Amino acid sequence: MKILTTVSELKAEIKSWKRDGFSIGLVPTMGYLHEGHASLIRRAVSENDKVVVSIFVNPTQFGPNEDFESYPRDPNMDSALCRANNVSAVFAPSVSEMYCRDAFTFVDVAYLTEPLCGRKRPGHFRGVCTIVSKLFNLTKADTAYFGEKDAQQLAVIKRMARDLNFDIEIKGCPIVRESDGLAKSSRNTYLNEKERTAALVLSKSLFHARDYILSPEGKAAKAKDVITRITDEIMKEPLARIDYVEIVDSENLRDADELKGGILIAIAVFIGRTRLIDNVSLNL
Ligand code: AMP
Repeated sequence: MKILTTVSELKAEIKSWKRDGFSIGLVPTMGYLHEGHASLIRRAVSENDKVVVSIFVNPTQFGPNEDFESYPRDPNMDSALCRANNVSAVFAPSVSEMYCRDAFTFVDVAYLTEPLCGRKRPGHFRGVCTIVSKLFNLTKADTAYFGEKDAQQLAVIKRMARDLNFDIEIKGCPIVRESDGLAKSSRNTYLNEKERTAALVLSKSLFHARDYILSPEGKAAKAKDVITRITDEIMKEPLARIDYVEIVDSENLRDADELKGGILIAIAVFIGRTRLIDNVSLNL
């Protein structure tokens, strides 16, 4: 497995793979890899001749008061996980390698970035779409893999690739959870013992909502009733503070009043100072 840190090294590697006719899979990450990332990597390795895992804590997708500086980093652990999963190359550039000081070009996806995390984290998706576009161009990947854990991000990237005619297929992969239900996340490492227990309120409230919607008594329920149930459950946890609880149409991410068709129940909750997201999608 190669560890590449410069754009020119990556370009040379891609050029030789392309010359040999290899298919290329890309898994973009911010590192501190866990089983969620590993599931994307394993799928990419099983479906492509060569796989690049990018590891880059992207400053442009963090707000001024967010955790860019403190975001967990462990390059050695990341390389070991990639090597164990037969990744062809890790691309781990520095910030100055990825961004020219006088870069004036950004990729903005409208509409789909208005609700949910887009509303709460202004500029976040602009940073995500810009870095992902750069990675698509650099790796010339045939397929890129993203987690459904970041459901809005997946929808936004799919739309960006379609709208800008990127010659790449975007594949979504299911959420990987801890055995007690907590969605795996690099940010879980911020949680102390009490917070780790409190964080279960995210997945629990979502699963209860799903069970209710699918039950006979929940059949006629409206989205607002379900939102109230989730909100009430989360508010019972003293360490939790709701950022948002929304139920949206999974295609256009607009509020779903009626519970029918494809819906996404998406939540963001602070546990102490740590902001966690989770979601459940349903086809009704
Ligand atoms: P991150 O390093 O957090 O930016 O995540 C990199 C990729 O891994 C994104 O496409 C995420 O959606 C995906 N991912 C992160 N956590 C999980 C998880 N628990 N299950 C599935 N995919 C995940």
